[in-house]
Amino acid sequence: MNHSFHPDRRRISIFGSTGSIGKSTLDVLAHLGGINAFEVPAITGMGNVDLLAAQARTCGARFAVTANPDRYGDLKHALSGSGIEVGAGPQALVEAGSRPADLIMAGIVGIAGLAPTLAAARTGADIALANKECLVSAGDLFTAAIAAGGGKLLPVDSEHNAIFQVLETDQRHAVERIILTASGGPFRTFTRAQMEDVTPQTAAAHPNWSMGVKISIDSASMFNKALEMIEARHLFDMQPHEIEVIIHPQSVIHSMVGYSDGSILAQLGAPDMRTAIGYAITHPRRANLPVRRLDLAALARLDFMAPDETLFPALRLARVAMQRGGLQGAVLNGAKEAVLEAFIAGRIRFLAMADVVESVMDAMAGLAPAYAIEDVFAADREARRRATELMDGTR
Ligand code: NAD
Ligand code: MG
Repeated sequence: MNHSFHPDRRRISIFGSTGSIGKSTLDVLAHLGGINAFEVPAITGMGNVDLLAAQARTCGARFAVTANPDRYGDLKHALSGSGIEVGAGPQALVEAGSRPADLIMAGIVGIAGLAPTLAAARTGADIALANKECLVSAGDLFTAAIAAGGGKLLPVDSEHNAIFQVLETDQRHAVERIILTASGGPFRTFTRAQMEDVTPQTAAAHPNWSMGVKISIDSASMFNKALEMIEARHLFDMQPHEIEVIIHPQSVIHSMVGYSDGSILAQLGAPDMRTAIGYAITHPRRANLPVRRLDLAALARLDFMAPDETLFPALRLARVAMQRGGLQGAVLNGAKEAVLEAFIAGRIRFLAMADVVESVMDAMAGLAPAYAIEDVFAADREARRRATELMDGTR
């Protein structure tokens, strides 16, 4: 393959290329006229250095970065003779974000995605955003960085990508509400008594989407939807009361926009992230992708029901966080990460997770807004610390 530099090729960097979003992105690029139709200024991963190296060779990346500084030698060795530049550690991730690109796929999971994606936003690159923390924990800083850089913000999370597809920007004044759909997770029909004893294994079994363990458990507790409400507020500049959640067990409608003439526009599709990834990459055009086509007759019906906020308090907590603003999103997310890890380790019960998050949010409600990324990291750390302290105290 000839990977020599072509100035007319679109430059796409992939953060978190070894993850689920990253792999799907490489697959989509392969379908969009082949990987050689693109330049890849940078790709990043973490522990899976062999896969990262293989991907870097296949797509002709110019810079490959592992987030783990201890794996520099391994990556260097795996890429020897390729001419591909190698980096390791958090600073190299930021360097990857600073390399000139037309578009960045931001697919790093967690707060680690914040610094490199912020750096990329400042360069003016378009950001295809899968990472949630950029908006949930640092929404004001991140949207300001996008505005200052001048690039587009293209949502990849399937719900936000759906809204992005059906939100008529020239009719913005007529948008009354956005309606996020939620599968309801495996406990949608459970009573409180049934939910008392659920295990991480049952919580991680998502009915429709195949995803990582953490995001699957976040779906079961609806904390994932809580994060998505906060993401939506920043992405589409909506007020908290204009963001609704509806349970839709089939996950066929990915989300909707309600207009002032009573119309609701929805985006439907098979649950396959490549549609959202493709749309973010090719917007405003549509790609030709090998995703399953919906058979509506076979589906026969679509169901909807209101979420039960006493069993799933995460949705209420998202509204509280949006109303309080400032760093409450970072606090909600940091505390949520701590309780999630504790639940996976068997140290806290499923239903107790939201109680701990709420207590931490209340205790940190007076925090000043973030002026820099360090303020976000500090709030995140403090929220995790307080959550852990509370859990240790209540065991
Ligand atoms: P994943 O765990 O499969 O992959 C995460 C990627 O980030 C990997 O490349 C990993 O090496 C890298 N990574 C992990 N820890 C890191 C660290 N500390 N520093 C730097 N890099 C690190 O996750 P995913 O499912 O691909 O999701 C990526 C992001 O997209 C998440 O924020 C997730 O919530 C969001 N998202 C995913 C989906 C989905 O269907 N997978 C849907 C919507 C949103
Ligand atoms: Mg989603």
